[in-house]
Amino acid sequence: MLEHLASHTTPSPRADALSWQEQALCSQTDPEAFFPEKGGSARPGKRTCHRCEVRAECLAFALANDERSGIWGGTTGKERRRLQRTLRGAGAR
Ligand code: SF4
Repeated sequence: MLEHLASHTTPSPRADALSWQEQALCSQTDPEAFFPEKGGSARPGKRTCHRCEVRAECLAFALANDERSGIWGGTTGKERRRLQRTLRGAGAR
């Protein structure tokens, strides 16, 4: 969880590419919602993502960086892996 939030606030050489994180709605809400316990509901975090203006940028970042845990861009890690497989399959055609 801290890793998720830290990535939204830690300055880095990638600062320009990460400027969308300044508008991250999750930084204003309960961080626990973005890392539900195993078997817990992802709905509260996803609900916040659906209202977030930088959802597309967040999802693109998670896919590009192979973020496997937590909710990013309104998706769970499992959903992102499925999306990656679909995208790889589409690229192979
Ligand atoms: S889409 Fe969700 S995880 Fe991404 S910055 Fe917005 S609220 Fe945070």
